[in-house]
Amino acid sequence: MGKVVSLAKRRGFVFQGSEIYGGLAGTWDYGPMGVGLDFNIKQYWWQEFVGKRDDVYGVDASILMHPRVWEASGHTEGFTDPLVEDKKTHKRHRADHLLEDAGVDASRLSVDEMGEKIKELKLTSPEGNELTEPKVFNLLVEASVGAVDGSKDAVYLRGEITQGVHVNFKNVLDSMHPKLPFGIAQIGKAFRNEIVPGNFLFRVREFEQMELQYYVHPNEEEGKRQYEYWKEKSMEWYKGLGISPENLRFREHDENERAHYAREAWDIEYNSPIGWKEAWGIHHRGDWDLRRHEEHSGVSMKYSDPTTGEKVWPWIIETSGGIGRAFLFVLLDAYREDELGGEKRAYLALSPKLAPVKAAVFPLLKNKPELVEKAREVYTALKKQIPSVMWDDNGNIGKRYRRQDEIGTPFCITIDFDTLEDDTVTIRERDSGEQTRMPTSEVSDVLAEAIR
Ligand code: ATP
Repeated sequence: MGKVVSLAKRRGFVFQGSEIYGGLAGTWDYGPMGVGLDFNIKQYWWQEFVGKRDDVYGVDASILMHPRVWEASGHTEGFTDPLVEDKKTHKRHRADHLLEDAGVDASRLSVDEMGEKIKELKLTSPEGNELTEPKVFNLLVEASVGAVDGSKDAVYLRGEITQGVHVNFKNVLDSMHPKLPFGIAQIGKAFRNEIVPGNFLFRVREFEQMELQYYVHPNEEEGKRQYEYWKEKSMEWYKGLGISPENLRFREHDENERAHYAREAWDIEYNSPIGWKEAWGIHHRGDWDLRRHEEHSGVSMKYSDPTTGEKVWPWIIETSGGIGRAFLFVLLDAYREDELGGEKRAYLALSPKLAPVKAAVFPLLKNKPELVEKAREVYTALKKQIPSVMWDDNGNIGKRYRRQDEIGTPFCITIDFDTLEDDTVTIRERDSGEQTRMPTSEVSDVLAEAIR
């Protein structure tokens, strides 16, 4: 993890949020390489879950929503973590995490039971101090809107993007007239007052999610069939990030661990340096959300069958994941160290479709105008077809390779004196270091095929 965090900073993937002010816990900023990888992950998800389908619609709802949304969704009551406080330092810790560190499965315990167990095991804070009784703590981040002090309205920054979809269920029905089953997808930011943010991008306070809410006819058989379909589809998508399949697994939630709305819940977990960790969640939400929004808003959230006229609250199968976690797991899985041509190197074996830079173009020597001119010509032509191509003439060829390897660039293209004679270039593949000579005119096809 340490090596990946340091590479991410050194090479412009991720920086600590507000770093020059000492940082703000639980926030990270994406740099020039990071935005490329982040965008490519989102684009791959959108293509697979929306673009290639004709039963899924996209929306982009506001982060600020009416406070009653969170009452309806159960977040003001149920979106809580059990906390204990160190009596000396007043630092707060997750009671369930302390118990898990002591080998206790806390997922089945109530808050009072956690308190008893902590006493029984005489657990202390990591600093060795006595702890308070556990208390529940709400994870929603509060904000206030309005121009005049004193008459501002309290709102929450959304704790999940899900509700932005459900409150628009009727709008999508009325504007697009879809028939069951159909889905609504969204990508957007969510905010949680995580007690202990940490492990780099794994647990943060501001993060981005990508989610599909798939509405199905409310019957057991259809619910089960769709649930299994979306569970497999989500795993297939995660593997498509280029992550080694043996580092991914499904895990079913215990009954006590399931969110308040879930009829069935499974996670996709990644085998990370901090253990098997949740990457993605697939939840059978039943009709919880639509029924609750109807109760709280007074607006009908039912779907009316166009042939039978039957009115039902559809059931919802949700597949939901964090982009930052996918980003982190992709980096961790792609990080490699080896020896090439007698030199040690670190590189990112990123899938070409995710790599922020698809190819770098170099003139062999930067002080030979005829080479630079030809290289610029090749670069400009290529960049018209494949925008994420980079120009690099800094340092010697070896240094350029090392730098491109560290950002995961799949191909490096060198223009040398032979190029001036026969219009061929050297194309070097990142993982093997193998170099091939090919006509300049063939390069864009090779890149396009690899990215596809
Ligand atoms: P966890 O148990 O790790 O707190 P969760 O079960 O609360 O996660 P969900 O509410 O199911 O998570 O959110 C869906 C996805 O959003 C998660 O699978 C994860 O990828 C991402 N996510 C949730 N909380 C965070 C966070 N604090 N930082 C980064 N990503 C997060």
